[in-house]
Amino acid sequence: MEKKEAIRIFEETGALQNGHFLLTSGLHSPQYFQCAMVLQYPEYLEEFCRGIVEFFQEEEDIDFVIAPAMGGIVVAQEVGRQLGVRHIFAERENGQLALRRGFHIETNEKVLICEDVLTTGSSVQEVIRLVEKAGGYPVGVGAIVDRSEGQLQFDLPLVSVIQVKAITYNPDKCPLCSQKIPLTKPGSRDIK
Ligand SMILES: [Zn+2]
Repeated sequence: MEKKEAIRIFEETGALQNGHFLLTSGLHSPQYFQCAMVLQYPEYLEEFCRGIVEFFQEEEDIDFVIAPAMGGIVVAQEVGRQLGVRHIFAERENGQLALRRGFHIETNEKVLICEDVLTTGSSVQEVIRLVEKAGGYPVGVGAIVDRSEGQLQFDLPLVSVIQVKAITYNPDKCPLCSQKIPLTKPGSRDIK
């Protein structure tokens, strides 16, 4: 899928909204971004995940797919479904990502790590360490959206379907405030 078409789908589903938004961090942004809004539709989830699957399936014999909870789970599930392998997830336990629910990793199993949105990449990095510690072999990282502007270094092949720069402003230096554009709370339904 072309990047332009992917962006259009993100805008149409409200996953990417343009305006003047107050983020939970307190910063202002001309964009509101919520990947779950687009991934709720099976046809888009399937199509975006196909991009990840096609990138890795020729290269590696993947044994299973893993994601950090919460956003990545839906991606790992669909990628695992398309690859015909199982998917599991890591979730926080006392602040650390851990395998719960009886999930486990066999020695030398080849593992693809999936995420919905990469920003700092810290959760994915934590999952890579978790897999290695359990004796697994991470083969790559697949994400729907990369917001890191190419800053991430996992020492693994990385593929993302779209790349969307994260733009934020300090409230006292916000050009949108200067233009007196009304500030909206994220999640509002005024999709253009
Ligand atoms: Zn502002």
